Amino acid sequence: MTRSYQDKIPAAHESGSVVQSTGEDLAGEKDNLVSTADLTARLEQANRHLTEIQGALSRAEDRRSEHAAEEERLRTALNHFFFRSETSPLVPWTADGAGNFTDFSDRWLELTGLTREQALGNGWIDASHPDDLPTIVPAWTRSVQSSVPYDVEHRIRVAGGGHRWMRSRAVPQLDGAGKVVRWFGTTEDVHDRKLAEFALRDSETRARSMFEQAAVGVGLVDLDGRFVEVNDQQCLTLGRSREALLKMRMQDVTHPDDLPTNLVHFERLVREGRAFSIEKRYLQPDGSFRWVENHVSLLRDRNGLPQLIQAVVVDITEKKAFQEALELQSHRVRTILDNAESALVLMDSTGRVVTHNAAFLRVSGYQEADVYGRTTHELVHYHYPDGRDFPIEECPIGKALFGLHAVKNHEDTFVRKDGGFFPVVVHMAPVRGDDGTLLGAVLEFRDVTQERSQAAALREGEVSVRRSEARWRFLARLSDALRASHSATEMAQQVCELLATELNLMRSTYTRVDLEQDRAWVQAEFVRGAPSVKGEHRPSAYGSAVWLRSLSGEIVVNRNTATDPSTADHASYDAIGTRAFVHIPLMKDDQLMAFFDAHAGEPRDWTPGELELMKDAAARLWEAVQRSAAEEALREANASLEARVAERTIDLQASNDALQGFTYHVSHDLRSPLRAIVATSRMLQEDHAAALDEEALMLLARQSAAATKMGHLIDDLLRLSRLSRQELQKSRVDLTSLAREAALEAQSMHTGTCVRVEVEVGMETQADPQLLRLALVNLIENAVKYSPQGGTVRVRRRDGDTFFVSDEGIGIQSQYLERIFEPFQRLHRDEEFRGTGIGLANVRQVVERHGGRVWAESQPELGSTFFFTLG
Ligand code: ADP
Repeated sequence: MTRSYQDKIPAAHESGSVVQSTGEDLAGEKDNLVSTADLTARLEQANRHLTEIQGALSRAEDRRSEHAAEEERLRTALNHFFFRSETSPLVPWTADGAGNFTDFSDRWLELTGLTREQALGNGWIDASHPDDLPTIVPAWTRSVQSSVPYDVEHRIRVAGGGHRWMRSRAVPQLDGAGKVVRWFGTTEDVHDRKLAEFALRDSETRARSMFEQAAVGVGLVDLDGRFVEVNDQQCLTLGRSREALLKMRMQDVTHPDDLPTNLVHFERLVREGRAFSIEKRYLQPDGSFRWVENHVSLLRDRNGLPQLIQAVVVDITEKKAFQEALELQSHRVRTILDNAESALVLMDSTGRVVTHNAAFLRVSGYQEADVYGRTTHELVHYHYPDGRDFPIEECPIGKALFGLHAVKNHEDTFVRKDGGFFPVVVHMAPVRGDDGTLLGAVLEFRDVTQERSQAAALREGEVSVRRSEARWRFLARLSDALRASHSATEMAQQVCELLATELNLMRSTYTRVDLEQDRAWVQAEFVRGAPSVKGEHRPSAYGSAVWLRSLSGEIVVNRNTATDPSTADHASYDAIGTRAFVHIPLMKDDQLMAFFDAHAGEPRDWTPGELELMKDAAARLWEAVQRSAAEEALREANASLEARVAERTIDLQASNDALQGFTYHVSHDLRSPLRAIVATSRMLQEDHAAALDEEALMLLARQSAAATKMGHLIDDLLRLSRLSRQELQKSRVDLTSLAREAALEAQSMHTGTCVRVEVEVGMETQADPQLLRLALVNLIENAVKYSPQGGTVRVRRRDGDTFFVSDEGIGIQSQYLERIFEPFQRLHRDEEFRGTGIGLANVRQVVERHGGRVWAESQPELGSTFFFTLG
């Protein structure tokens, strides 16, 4: 039984493990073996004993020679230890310096099922698991050879069958020369711990492989964000190698826009340990980014202090893109929905709202939160319009839905959240699954309140158009009647009759009023089945209130004479059968002149249309009456005027004729005696000059001159007289030639003056040439005569048919410009300028006979211009 344990070493083995440790390390335990804490505590306790003993033994050895008695005590202590050890899981043993077992507790035999003999020496090798021998044998050999502590984990075959894990440790006892005299060892059952360790290792391995092969990225960063570990997927997501990443920080690869939020969470995680999940973007080396979902949690060390941060990273770039596309799509759908005028609701198969548009909320008055989980019937159809509850079983839309029928243009009344009702037009289309079952429905409805009111307004409009058409037709009839009437009374009669027929009146009257005499006459009346009121009345017959109001032009509308306060003081309406009336005053210059009355035999609620019609008819009548009165007055005035004018004209003509005849005769008859006077004076002067003295000769000369002048006067008068009687012989006249002839004549008469006459060429007009010549001679002669200083006389056409003769002579003061055209009006004495004062009167006569006009403009000292037209 002394075979060397080295012989038993198998060729190769991997299962066993060697823990090369110092004596100090023996007291240590693996940190993370929580499941074997109990075991560890006991081991530590044993180790402490062992260390204590070892120390004591060394000390004892040193003093052995001197203290033999001490050795015995120690042995007892050792035995005590062994004794105690019997109950502990530790199996103490000793070996000699060559490594052969020399002693062990009985527990070793119990454990291994070996006999003491078998166990001594190298017997432990037989108890060991063959797979572990290649580890433990060289380890024990090395310790024995090098005197280093031994610490090995290995399996032994236990008595009941199977193997258990053990940890065997030993420390050498050295003599004074440093040679190993003995090994103190323990073998400890660590099977449970070992199994736990294996389990842990397995799970670690699994975790690692999970970590490595995870479809999601996993990364560990330290508290500063520096990457400590990353898996392949994380590298892939970040587009960087592991080496590169381990030199970077989380901050370096996070999109700058996402970093601030990320850091806030990160810091809170470190501070408070609160795990978080965020969506963020990781930057790729090429500047692009990937969206990730980051689930981040804190890893603590065994003291509970934050150690690392673990991030599980799910690449959601595609999901995000899809989501964005989806969002865009749903945004589009939403926009379409929300812009729809109609309320749209998507319901599930029970009629509950799944989704809806903005119009639905707007129309129904509900908030977003009110709607979900409720059926549309509950929301907008819960009451009948009369306020009774409306069970869904009775709802035609609900029935159609569950019967899988569509509803089209269904008119109904829905109710708002606030209980208000509104008319709607509803469409509902059920949505069926492939198997034909009801999946839900689309409900669309439109609030038609406005449409209805518009339709009503339209109808009303049509009615009012018809009404106004009738009114216009009536007024047209009225106008025709008024036009056809010849007197105010006739007009009033027509209006009374037309209105009474149109409005089914009992009586209508037109009454003239004389306020001064306090009288009123019913001039026109149309009456049916009631007494006539035609004739004269006192205004008091109308009642004071009605009378006072009509004085100020106010229309009195009485709907019931028995109850209306305006007729309360007066009962005479009863007598004429009037139960309601409209009293329309007709005013002129704020003064009451007449009124129009409409009477009804029953109380009557006059409509605005009826009142309008009456007011209109009364106004037209009044206007026509006034116009006819004015026309009548005008006609009368005209007739008398014309008569007077005719009378005067005849008188005028007669006196004119008489005057002209007289003038002619006088002029004619005056000429012969005048000639006799002139001839006699000339004879006296010529034949009897010698017999006459100087004074007599001078008197004779004056007489002759006066007689000559008188002759001229008579000539001019005769000419004027002739002019007014002479028939006009109009023809195309060359005014330029006429003016030139007249100029020559004028110049020949006034040879003393140096005046130039300029006549515009090409002047033509329609006139009596003889008369025009006379006028031109007069004007040009005057122009020459009254230009004693010379100058230029111009005969020209101004514009159209206005001609003028201008000079640069003495001019005329403005106050005389009118007078000079009257006969014998002269502004100068004969000594200054000779003349008769008839010339311009002749000119005017000529011009006016042509239907034209003559006038002068002048500035004294600068000259005069005589304008004339010839009609
Ligand atoms: P007379 O024979 O005096 O010229 P008219 O009837 O021709 O009579 O003229 C009336 C008056 O008008 C003249 O006496 C004269 O005072 C004034 N008169 C007429 N023509 C001119 C003129 N071209 N310049 C200034 N005064 C004029």
